[in-house]
Amino acid sequence: MLTITLKPGKEKSLLRRHPWIFPTAIDRVEGKPEEKNKPGTTALVQSSSGQFLARAAFSPKSQIRARVWSFNENEPIDHALIKRRIKKALAYRMANVRDTDAIRVIFGEADGFPGLVVDWYGGKPGWLVCQFQSAGVEAWKVAIMQALIAETGCPNVYERSDASVREREGLPLVTGTLAGNEPDAETLVTENGVRYAVDIKTGHKTGFYIDQRDNRKLVMEHASERDVLNCFCYTGGFSLAALKGGAKSVISIDSSGEALAVGQRNMALNGFDTAKAEWWDADVFKTLRSLREQGKSFDMIVLDPPKFASSPDHVDRAARAYKDINLLGFQLLREGGFLFTYSCSGAISADLFQKIVAGAANDAKVDAHILKRLSAGVDHPMTTSFPEGEYLKGLMLHKP
Ligand code: SAH
Repeated sequence: MLTITLKPGKEKSLLRRHPWIFPTAIDRVEGKPEEKNKPGTTALVQSSSGQFLARAAFSPKSQIRARVWSFNENEPIDHALIKRRIKKALAYRMANVRDTDAIRVIFGEADGFPGLVVDWYGGKPGWLVCQFQSAGVEAWKVAIMQALIAETGCPNVYERSDASVREREGLPLVTGTLAGNEPDAETLVTENGVRYAVDIKTGHKTGFYIDQRDNRKLVMEHASERDVLNCFCYTGGFSLAALKGGAKSVISIDSSGEALAVGQRNMALNGFDTAKAEWWDADVFKTLRSLREQGKSFDMIVLDPPKFASSPDHVDRAARAYKDINLLGFQLLREGGFLFTYSCSGAISADLFQKIVAGAANDAKVDAHILKRLSAGVDHPMTTSFPEGEYLKGLMLHKP
């Protein structure tokens, strides 16, 4: 069997059950050449003194050289393990996710499948949409797909392994139907009473930002009679939630015309009063400045930008961008207004994000109240041993 032996002292993070092994921690990799060259081969990981640490998926080209499948010496990595974990992940969602048929069934490391994302859209049977983002889950793709079909009863599986992280694993980008029917151009989901059209084949990620479900609900609950500005609106998730919550007006801004078209389609699907909504195909940074120059103001502002920091090297530049939009947000917010602000950059911690937002409030001379700290929904669990899993963080702020 392929065996990875760590350098002395490098077992510490594994003993804390952190699931990633970096090249700098590895003393030697021993095994047959075909095992060493095959991405996703299961390897035994041991300390420099030969103590068992874990079984992990080996990824010869990746900076994350191996990802742990199991810390349990008696747990083989096989079809039964895959089935067991999928069953468990699904049972957890069925018990805890409510009022939606857009559910993240598997969230990577937290569910024991490093690098795997599976979203289930449209229920009975709907579509399972998978992203295989590491060599380990790629090697077990067929077994994972079969277990997913068996456990969910959904025969339609579509692969969206087109995220650039695959390249870092030395895996090609692929999309296509893995089982059952090809997805329709539009799959309808209903979340907290709002209908959304999801484009599984070409939408962002797997088609929809499922992670913002609870935060959309929060916006819905606070939108009544407010003038709302939704920045980086994509297909209008927060805009629709605000309209459902009785917003007086909603301006939605995004630089993707296609996403805006789906947003408008979503509005029609729900029968909302189109006169209340404007959809602007524009750059948020420039538009916020021009709104400030025109002396405009809003009772509720949502800032949910794309990932500004794609790696730790980009944190400084990203921090400036976050500060910029949040400063403008505070300036455009009326007294008594709410600002919902997010970062989905894994490299920016919740603590740092709060500091950036505090700096923006300070520059805007606002003593903002932090009403809530926000994160992804319960179907995106963060594990105690793997804080990297918490990529989405947000704040609900009030301008007194
Ligand atoms: N809030 C959305 C998800 C946002 S994803 C939701 O809840 O569904 C980020 C969005 O920002 C994308 O749709 C992208 O097109 C848009 N975007 C990126 N840079 C932008 C910019 N400078 N100005 C306007 N939109 C931008």
